[in-house]
Formats: sequence, C-alpha cells, structure tokens
Amino acid sequence: MNRIVNAIKGRLPAHFADRMEERIGGLRDFERLESHDSSALTITCDDSARRDQDIVSVLDSQNLKGVISVSPDLVGTDGFLDYAALRDMQAGGHELAFHGNDHSPFTDIHPLRKLTDSVAEGLSRLQDQGLSTQTVVYPCGNNNRRIRQALAPFFRAGVSTWFGVNSGKRINRYSIRRVPFGAYASQHAPSEHWYRDMIDVALREPRWIILMLHPGSTEHTPDHTAMLQRLTQYALERGLPIRSVSEHLDTLQPEPVRGNDHFQAGVS
Ligand SMILES: [Zn+2]
Repeated sequence: MNRIVNAIKGRLPAHFADRMEERIGGLRDFERLESHDSSALTITCDDSARRDQDIVSVLDSQNLKGVISVSPDLVGTDGFLDYAALRDMQAGGHELAFHGNDHSPFTDIHPLRKLTDSVAEGLSRLQDQGLSTQTVVYPCGNNNRRIRQALAPFFRAGVSTWFGVNSGKRINRYSIRRVPFGAYASQHAPSEHWYRDMIDVALREPRWIILMLHPGSTEHTPDHTAMLQRLTQYALERGLPIRSVSEHLDTLQPEPVRGNDHFQAGVS
C-alpha cells in the first residue's frame, strides 16, 4: 500500500503540465458537467484496501453510500479486499469505480489503443465477478486531454487527485477534483474546523465536495476515521446530501452522448 502512496507523491509535479493543458484547452462538450446547481458531499476510498471496510462501516451506520475504487490485479492480494467483500459493498449500495488494472498511471500506457484495450479488459474482469462500474478514478490521478477523450465512451465520469472543490461552470466531468482527507491532507488543511467550513460554504452555494481517502495508507489513522464520522454527521444534520458519484450525477441534467464516432476518432 505504501508503495502506491509513494508512487502518487512522486508524481505530483507531473500533474502541473496536465492541469495547464486543461486550462488552456478549455472544456470540450463531452467534458462539460451541465446544470451543477446542487451541493453534495462524496466520500471516495482509493485502492480497495481491507481498511476501506472501516469507512464503509461508518457510512453504513449512517445509511450513506460511498465510492470504492478497484484495481482488478490487486483484488484479494495482501492487504486488499477480495471479490466477495466488494460484491457485498456493491450490494449494500456503495459505488465501485475502476482504478486501472494494476494501478499503473494511464499516462504511462502507450499507445492509447493499449490503454483502451486494457480498460476494456479490466471492466470485463470486474463484470465477470458481478461488479459494475460507471466511474473511473485515475490511478495516481494522472489524466490528460487524450486520455479523457479515449476513456469517455467507457465511463460516466472520471475522478482525479487534482485538488479542489467542484463548482461553477468549469467542472470537468472527466477530471473531477477532490480534497484529500487523512493521507495526503497535511499539505492542504488537516483541521476538522477547515472541513466544516467547506461544508458550510456548500450549504450556501452549489459545491460538490469529494473527499479522497486512502484508508490503507499508514497516514490514514483511526482518528481520521472518527473525524470523518463527525463530519458526515455534521453535514447530515445541516441538510447537505451525501452521495456517491453516480448518485450525484443522477441529480444533474442532461448527460452528454457518449461512445460516438467523435470519441473513437481520438483513439489510436
Ligand atoms: Zn490509487
């Protein structure tokens, strides 16, 4: 697990160029998240570590649904959930997201056809195990303009590690921003008060806050899990909906058409 954590840390500067490319290029039609006029809080757990179960237990106790991202090659290996546990989570209403076959960053897979073949294969492996996914959580967060276009036909949305709260007219449906919680959070703002403030803002204006958790990392402690429970309770008491990614997308209209020739033209 800490191998994954270190891989992510080593790649943070590489995201700068991809973020600049997104800003300069602007959003294409399929990337635009239309009518984002309602707030929500989403809890995502990356990597499907066994310790994700702690977070799922917190959510279950409040009748909430979260997102668990899964890399098929890691399922059932040391420290990671097996397929039976993932099926139980899905049956309990939690959303499973695709996280690459072996957690290799998509920017390292060339040519693009190899990436799309690998994604198709991974999705079919999950399907064979009775699991379905509508969302991709990019391994190590890496995504760029070509990757988003190539993967749009496979998924309803793509989630990055790029920092931010999603608001306004510039939300990229295939590069949705997150706010780290627990592991990776120290460089931004670790205090409970800071997260509560973020929730308070979302109660006043449309904000989609997606917390990024890595419960399998040693940087995520039991104190973080307890803090998460207090924060979800705080949000619930004030009326902020807590939804999975697909649940929140269901509240928005309309969806772009996916899987047409325009998207396929970018695959090589
Ligand atoms: Zn990951």
